[in-house]
Amino acid sequence: MNNSLYALGDKQVNDISLKDLAKRSRYGGIFYLLAFLAAVFSSATAREHLDIIGVFSGCFLLIQFYRLVLFFKVFSSNEIDYPSYFSRYAFIYNSSALVWVSGSAWLFYVNPTIDLAVTVNVMAAAGISIGGVTVLAPSYKIMRSYFVLICFPFALGAGLLLDQPGNMIVAALIIGYGLFIFMTGKQQNRVYWQALNDNLKLSEQAEELEKAKIAAELAGQAKTDFLAAMTHEIRTPMNGVLGMAQLLSMGDLNEKQQQQVTVINNAGRTLMHIINNILDYSKINAEQLELEKISFSPADVVNEVMSLLAPQFEKKPINFTCTLDDIPEFVQGDPYRVHQILYNLVGNAFKFTDNGEISIKAFCQESDDTNTVMLSFSVTDTGIGISAEDQQQIFEQFYQVSHFNPNIRGTGLGLSITQRLVELMGGRISVESEVGVGSTFTISIPFVLSDQAACQESSALGGVGIKPDLPSNLHVLLAEDNKVNQMICEQFFLKLGCSVDLVETGVMALEKFNGSQQYDVIFMDCNMPEMDGFSATLAIRQIEKSKGLNQTPVIALTAHVEEDIKRQCLDSGMNAFISKPFLFEDLESMVKKVRVGLHNEITFKEDSRKG
Ligand code: ADP
Repeated sequence: MNNSLYALGDKQVNDISLKDLAKRSRYGGIFYLLAFLAAVFSSATAREHLDIIGVFSGCFLLIQFYRLVLFFKVFSSNEIDYPSYFSRYAFIYNSSALVWVSGSAWLFYVNPTIDLAVTVNVMAAAGISIGGVTVLAPSYKIMRSYFVLICFPFALGAGLLLDQPGNMIVAALIIGYGLFIFMTGKQQNRVYWQALNDNLKLSEQAEELEKAKIAAELAGQAKTDFLAAMTHEIRTPMNGVLGMAQLLSMGDLNEKQQQQVTVINNAGRTLMHIINNILDYSKINAEQLELEKISFSPADVVNEVMSLLAPQFEKKPINFTCTLDDIPEFVQGDPYRVHQILYNLVGNAFKFTDNGEISIKAFCQESDDTNTVMLSFSVTDTGIGISAEDQQQIFEQFYQVSHFNPNIRGTGLGLSITQRLVELMGGRISVESEVGVGSTFTISIPFVLSDQAACQESSALGGVGIKPDLPSNLHVLLAEDNKVNQMICEQFFLKLGCSVDLVETGVMALEKFNGSQQYDVIFMDCNMPEMDGFSATLAIRQIEKSKGLNQTPVIALTAHVEEDIKRQCLDSGMNAFISKPFLFEDLESMVKKVRVGLHNEITFKEDSRKG
């Protein structure tokens, strides 16, 4: 229904404007009554006719009552018949106007002298008509009829019933004033509909934006889930490829075969590096990357990176050095991501340096807060260097400098991920470089200081009472359902001088654990049929507790690399975590740790950190 020259006319608009009208008009009838009483009680002659005053007052009260009834109906019904409601409001306003005008005419009739009573009446009429017109802004039609009914008969009544010559002046005043209010009312009506239109458009746009935002978030989530699922699916067979290639390379091969296996190995590692970079990239972009906050030793992280990369440095005439200035023994933060950052920077340095030197330096900068420390790590190389122009862009996603060197490969994601990780930790990264001379990448990250006690406490989650000082020939229980992985692990363990019992499900692992054989360590796949590794570990920890036994170290083997899975491993009572695909060195270093007494820790080994 078109209630206005400017109405949109659809259901939503009608609904808003009707509710507006109902709200604005719900108490308006009271003012008519008060204004009428003020005017008639100012007149001595009118005061004598209490019965007539009572009739008019009763009419005003009835109309007021009807206003309230309509207000509650409008706000309580779901299905509204708009034309009928607008007619009812037209009735309310027209009858208010008619009762007012009749009451005024009666007053002028019994009190024709232009005195206080008439003045109060005319002033009150001005007030209620301004109020009426304002309230009627949503409906031009009702406003028009109201105006006509209240203005012209009122002016006519004044002209005919009041004493001359003032009657003409009062009538003219009413007409002039009425016309002015009407024009203003029309203006209000236009502004009202314009505002309503704009509001509706804005809320429609906001709704669309919200929908688009939700759709984008869902799409982003779907993309992240897809990537997580895919990387998991790729990791499992990659474990087979890399593990078998490594086993092959340990065998008796001629030079050519050795070269071929090295190619498989390198290609596999590069592939894993790319997959992990893509996973990190998508997590960072979806703002889903969560940082750990645990106590750790920065020196240990640097040493881990050094020892992981050291074998590579034997392939080039490069001197690899490390200087640890006076840095704190323990800080709080995410050691895995610090490790990843350093690994990326040193990995790049190695990639772009043919000979000379690569050095890692760790040092502290002054901090205002005594509880925090600004820890800096710089990685310097004597490699090809980066031009000033490229330095501006190397932190951008997918940016790579063209080197005309087919042996140098990458995704162009490493530095952008590194920069985002540093920034997530509240730090910054910078580069200084000269083409042909070398580069220095420096990261500075604020860390909260931590004491050794806190570090041990946090690293010993459930690790109290772990069997220490184990023999060199460990007896291993391996729970793994994938045949290829079983074969690889078994071979690796045998090469490490360990004896292995193999089971394929969590239930079988429990049975073995409960049997007569004692195990020094359990390597547990997380996803297995019947009972997964988490439940099996929980059950093992309960058995140990009930029997008062020392804890047997449980190391998770999983193709999942998400933080929540790592957390789940620790929560279920596992002590460490190895992600698939793992290499011989990873099992070797874990076995070494188990031998010296393992406390809860998630191994730094992550394939994304392997070049
Ligand atoms: P990628 O994974 O392809 O190496 P990065 O984001 O790690 O991608 O690096 C982007 C580019 O920055 C590289 O292609 C390389 O040209 C340049 N770069 C990074 N580190 C060094 C370095 N230490 N020396 C010379 N160039 C470097």
